[in-house]
Amino acid sequence: MHLIFFFLGVIVLKKLVQTWHVWISLVCLLPLSVVFCGSALAQSSVQVQWFGQSAFKITTLQGHVIVIDPWILKNPKTPTELKNLDALGKVDVVLVTHAHWDHTADAVEIAIKNQAPLYGPGDFSQTLMNLGSLPPKQLPRMNKGGTVSPWPGVKITAVHAEHSSTYVWNNPATHKDESLPGGEPLGFVIEFENGFKIYHAGDTDVFGDMALIQKRHHPDVAMLPIGGNFTMDPQGAAFAINEFLKPKFAIPMHYQTNPYNTGSPEDFIKALGTSGTEVIVMKPGEIRKF
Ligand SMILES: [Zn+2]
Repeated sequence: MHLIFFFLGVIVLKKLVQTWHVWISLVCLLPLSVVFCGSALAQSSVQVQWFGQSAFKITTLQGHVIVIDPWILKNPKTPTELKNLDALGKVDVVLVTHAHWDHTADAVEIAIKNQAPLYGPGDFSQTLMNLGSLPPKQLPRMNKGGTVSPWPGVKITAVHAEHSSTYVWNNPATHKDESLPGGEPLGFVIEFENGFKIYHAGDTDVFGDMALIQKRHHPDVAMLPIGGNFTMDPQGAAFAINEFLKPKFAIPMHYQTNPYNTGSPEDFIKALGTSGTEVIVMKPGEIRKF
């Protein structure tokens, strides 16, 4: 009888050990799978997608998504299949360089959809806060010279831009447009996990402190407006590149979306002459990896 209980005991013990193996395996595999899933989002290059005008989606090495100056739904340059804010996928941070509609049109909606923070000129953030467009926690204020680090290894610095930034808001009570404070216009320097840096100039003329941006930040890529009329034209942008910024790559933006900003990438390339900077002319919707 004792022998039967002994063997039954051995079988139960064996089962328990087996069950514990399963539990131990699960406990060990869970953090591993989290690490694996996390690294599955990671990529070997910084990914840049252009939507026309100054709107870009930038994906960091760890897979975080930054959207800058999103004018997408009514942007004449944006391909039809991308004129859908769901097509952007998950957005982690929204940046706006200034308050003009062709830079902010879809910013609040994207921030709401993704519960993402929206960074822009501090006084524009205050205006959005006063209007109740977004809750204060999604409007962390910053200004020129300020750096925020939403994730380890990624830094976003607000720099000067030579432009204006009034926010035109249609008051639903009166149906009239009101001009509200939009703060001082900005550019952004974004540093990624591997030290690679992109300078998005926003809307701007050439200014001497672009030399300071080069000296302090050494951007690898400069995204510059070339359209003229509201910003510098191809010759102005070429001057900024050759005299001040001297990046490895230049991406022209903010051109040919209306009858006034007529500058062309061809004229920009011509004006650059024998420059050490490689021009990347992106097609709207195109994705480039750096
Ligand atoms: Zn503007």
